[in-house]
Amino acid sequence: MVVNIVGATNHKEMKKMNKTYEEIIDEMKEMGYQWNVDTYGEDGEPILKITKSSLMSYEWCPKKYEFSYIERLPQDQTEAMRKGTIVHNAREEFFNEFDIKKAETMEAEELIDYCSSLFPVDEYAEMYMTIASFEAQRFLEARGEGKTHEYLPIVNEGLFDAEIIIPKNFSKKYPLKKNYTVRLQGIIDRIFIENGNLIPFELKTGNWSDSKVSGMRKEMAFYQLMLESCPVEVLEKYGLNSKMEVSHWGWYYPAADHFYVEPIIKTSMTSLKNSIAKLIKAYEEKNFEPKFYAPTCSKYCSFYGKCSAENGFGF
Ligand code: SF4
Repeated sequence: MVVNIVGATNHKEMKKMNKTYEEIIDEMKEMGYQWNVDTYGEDGEPILKITKSSLMSYEWCPKKYEFSYIERLPQDQTEAMRKGTIVHNAREEFFNEFDIKKAETMEAEELIDYCSSLFPVDEYAEMYMTIASFEAQRFLEARGEGKTHEYLPIVNEGLFDAEIIIPKNFSKKYPLKKNYTVRLQGIIDRIFIENGNLIPFELKTGNWSDSKVSGMRKEMAFYQLMLESCPVEVLEKYGLNSKMEVSHWGWYYPAADHFYVEPIIKTSMTSLKNSIAKLIKAYEEKNFEPKFYAPTCSKYCSFYGKCSAENGFGF
């Protein structure tokens, strides 16, 4: 059930006869963020849970991770978070409702109207219009290439679980005291299939800037690692199988009309695994340093008033 992060086990070897998806998930170890590294491996002790959001939060600022994930302090709900939730739900519903047969005979303008009609009426109408035009164009291209069967995602907001082992000497920069099993969990926005291969896709409702490329690649490598490490039963739940490989990944920022797809990049996977080792090391050392100096934190961080950065001790 557990995949070694260096020598990935073939999914097929992990398949257990007659196990249901629920049984496979039940067999996985309990997980959590309040992880006590000193009792790791003892009976009944949970393993570290890692989601894309928790790992990216740690990357942004270890202290912020400690406040929100270990101490579970509430965060202020920002407009950006609210927009993200509403637009993600709307796009999920769009793909649930899109009718390929109905769209097959539509001309461009009619198709845009049809795509628009699948979005709710709320304050994000402008963003929905951008997405509707984009999707109409994407459908027309798929139709032109005779590939409307690949237009809809095979996975639309799918939950994935995987246990992996981080060997103690995986990262030269962040050597660990022992090998650790950790559990990756996350919802992948969308997975498309092209020529039999998988393309995970991420929707972001914020603004785009080229400085976000390496961060986005690391996020997409997280999806790739989950897909390559999860049990066959998890893949099968979504109509996937172990022969399908992640060949590309991509992201879509409708606020900037930015859409990007590229072949997977190996160095992003190495960078991701180093980040995981770094996070585990922080637990080993019980050290979650504040990352920023106060003035750059105040408008972004709910914990500004609780943090040493407020007094200028952050760096
Ligand atoms: S105020 Fe700054 S240093 Fe402190 S937790 Fe927030 S982001 Fe980190």
